[in-house]
Amino acid sequence: MTFEKRSIGMIYVYCIITLGIYFIYWEIKTKNEMNKAFNANIPTGWLLIIPIANIYWLYKYTECFVTKVKGDDDTALWFILFWLVGIIMPWIVQTELNNLADNPQLLQNRQHGARYCPNCGKKIPFDAEICPYCAKKFETYL
Ligand SMILES: [Zn+2]
Repeated sequence: MTFEKRSIGMIYVYCIITLGIYFIYWEIKTKNEMNKAFNANIPTGWLLIIPIANIYWLYKYTECFVTKVKGDDDTALWFILFWLVGIIMPWIVQTELNNLADNPQLLQNRQHGARYCPNCGKKIPFDAEICPYCAKKFETYL
């Protein structure tokens, strides 16, 4: 399995017990999972302990999370949020990662950066309810 399912409550418990060290461990673990799943290039976690460089690291992490995991393009908004209120990060990020861990089909769609019609195999929009090529109707979509 590419993404490990984690209890969000336990992440916060571990963070409190370790006085925040677990938070860094969690950031690096999830960074490695995203790099692997999406062939992404979030840099080494060592940057987290270097001032300024850690801002760059957070940006790269957020960019991968937003564009690959969520499939959105509002990186700047999430980056500012994560920077100002870092405490929400495990909650927001792990929710999405757990979602991918539970839905292999969704993960596959995200990995391909697209969704494919099961009938004609053409690349179609994520939210299409009808295939624009073969007009097949979809009961549900992921
Ligand atoms: Zn089709």
